[in-house]
Amino acid sequence: MKIKIHRGAAQIGGSCVELTAAGKRLIIDVGLPLDADDPESDEILPHAEGLFTDSQQSLPILGILISHPHQDHFGLVHRIRPGIPVYTTHAGEVLMESGEILSGHKMNVEWQHFQPFESFSIGPFRITPYLVDHSAFDACAFLIEADGKRIFYSGDFRAHGRKNKLFENMLLHPPQEIDALLLEGTMLGRTKESVLTESELEDQFLDAIRQSEGAVLCTVSSQNIDRLVTIYRATKRSGRTLVLDLYTAIILDRIQSFAKLPHASNEFDQLQVWYPWALSSLVADRSGKELLYKFKPWKLDRQDVHENPEKYVLLVKPSYWKDVEKMDLQAGSYLYSQWSGYATKAREQELRHMLEQKGFSLQHLHTSGHATRDDLRSFVRAIKPKILIPMHTEHPEEYESFGGVSRIVHDGMELDI
Ligand SMILES: [Zn+2]
Repeated sequence: MKIKIHRGAAQIGGSCVELTAAGKRLIIDVGLPLDADDPESDEILPHAEGLFTDSQQSLPILGILISHPHQDHFGLVHRIRPGIPVYTTHAGEVLMESGEILSGHKMNVEWQHFQPFESFSIGPFRITPYLVDHSAFDACAFLIEADGKRIFYSGDFRAHGRKNKLFENMLLHPPQEIDALLLEGTMLGRTKESVLTESELEDQFLDAIRQSEGAVLCTVSSQNIDRLVTIYRATKRSGRTLVLDLYTAIILDRIQSFAKLPHASNEFDQLQVWYPWALSSLVADRSGKELLYKFKPWKLDRQDVHENPEKYVLLVKPSYWKDVEKMDLQAGSYLYSQWSGYATKAREQELRHMLEQKGFSLQHLHTSGHATRDDLRSFVRAIKPKILIPMHTEHPEEYESFGGVSRIVHDGMELDI
């Protein structure tokens, strides 16, 4: 089997890997680089022949596996040439397709679904997806067998989320006889980030909400389901009501059939929905007015937040800052629950500036979606791969400290295992 990392050998995000066996190719992830300004530009396409345009010369691509619904792993899937099936979980598809409400990109993808821990074949490749603990819902690692070799692609994972049992199980029952392990290492170099479990973070949220006498606003990714559960639980414990923005309400509604999750319904009495103006017209334009009406029974008006700010925890995004300004809230708390690297964006700064002027205090309440150095080391020791290939990291040289044979490759380099 041959392995080629098209992108991600020495960077976080934009992942794309190609495997070749018996004259056929399989792609894992087609991610958008984290620093890409324009997802439609041709310059950001990885150099995988025949993936985005027709190519007579190259070996056929039988399919694409998507490890999880994070943009840096699937963000170019709408640009692949028609006719290549894309494999992911059903919930993964729903989450990726939901991004269309904001991006306007029609995916036009030929989806195929797999179930975690159920093996399936694509041509000469035998694939077993392993559900992992990560900040994306339904994230999977892959065991891929072909040509008598076995490779393991870790995708993104951690050991301190709400599904940390999956990590413990992996250490207890690791896949055996792995020839090559492609391992993420996002946290290497991010030494200043604190790593809390989601339950510890829930307690921090509870303290922050209790300490606030006014409004509590919170920025969080609508696709970070673990974190939304954390915030919902803390809000409920504080006696307040969580007010989802319309987009988050849509996401939770679409995936609540896959897991027991808080969502707008009569089942969850401490949960309401607010309608940011620009977002509501986007939803009406792109998905139809019925979707707007769907959440009407749980709708909360801006005026309600203005009059009783101490009753609510409101999910916001920088793009809603004008709606937030109109609520005319004073001296509340702003809880930022994303990676600090995103906070430097102009719109986030705009929102913060406005809130500061209104006397809001700011707190960063977050924990990483990625494994710590110690957890990465335990992972490598459990799997004992013949070779360890760094990827999704800015520090491939540090993999040597995990023991075993680490092999640093470059983007575009082919490795025969
Ligand atoms: Zn991820």
